[in-house]
Amino acid sequence: AGASRAVLSARGLTKRFGPFLAVNNVDIDIHHGRVHALIGPNGAGKSTVFNLLTKFYTPTAGRIVLDETDITAMDPARVARMGMVRSFQISATFGDMSLLDNVCIALQRANNLAVQFWRPLSSLDRLRPRAMELLDRVGLADMSQRRAADLSYGRKRALEIATTLALEPRVLLLDEPLAGMGHEDVENMASLISTVARDCALLMVEHNLKVVADIGHEITVLQRGEVLARGDYATVSTDPRVREAYMGS
Ligand code: ADP
Ligand code: MG
Repeated sequence: AGASRAVLSARGLTKRFGPFLAVNNVDIDIHHGRVHALIGPNGAGKSTVFNLLTKFYTPTAGRIVLDETDITAMDPARVARMGMVRSFQISATFGDMSLLDNVCIALQRANNLAVQFWRPLSSLDRLRPRAMELLDRVGLADMSQRRAADLSYGRKRALEIATTLALEPRVLLLDEPLAGMGHEDVENMASLISTVARDCALLMVEHNLKVVADIGHEITVLQRGEVLARGDYATVSTDPRVREAYMGS
């Protein structure tokens, strides 16, 4: 109550695929400095909500507001320029290039400069200090000269986060950022997500409930396209309907 205004909010978000109602009347608020986790069983509508918020899908009904601007009818490119960044938006990491050059290229794209491949890479020099800062934020500064292709899976995802941060997101949306990771990578990525969320509003779709419990400030539980419960982890995890949704069927 009386908390800060949401950076991103949706009201009555609804999506039909033909006759099928995939998302029905969902309200969600994403706040600055917080990790908002969207959870729910398979087929609950998480990815559809994610794609609606990032404007990859057009809602059948409902309204989406970013920083007090109605973005419901706005195209994804324009929404991206307003600071909404989805995971791995710049995901094409260049395997043969160093980590540092990968982040420099992301910065260059973020600056809306066309990447000019006929120029020598040294033209990226002036972006290097900032690129090093971003690598440092994701814990990869000491490997800045390594080839991206040689990184472990978890570190590649961390590199992708660095390229995402090059866009200076106001809202960052991550769809299953821990998918496919081993235990150690999961811990590192969870702590990275938690740190990154200090400077933006962050939404993640996530299956790993332990991580959601650890770093999620606000949780929205979806089931069959509708909000089943919302609140902090203690609240939603003790909700009998949530327990049933996860245990049964
Ligand atoms: P989740 O990410 O929670 O697993 P999704 O949002 O991917 O769920 O899917 C929600 C429901 O909508 C599922 O029943 C799925 O089969 C259906 N669905 C998703 N995308 C489409 C689509 N493009 N066309 C038809 N049905 C879809
Ligand atoms: Mg999904």
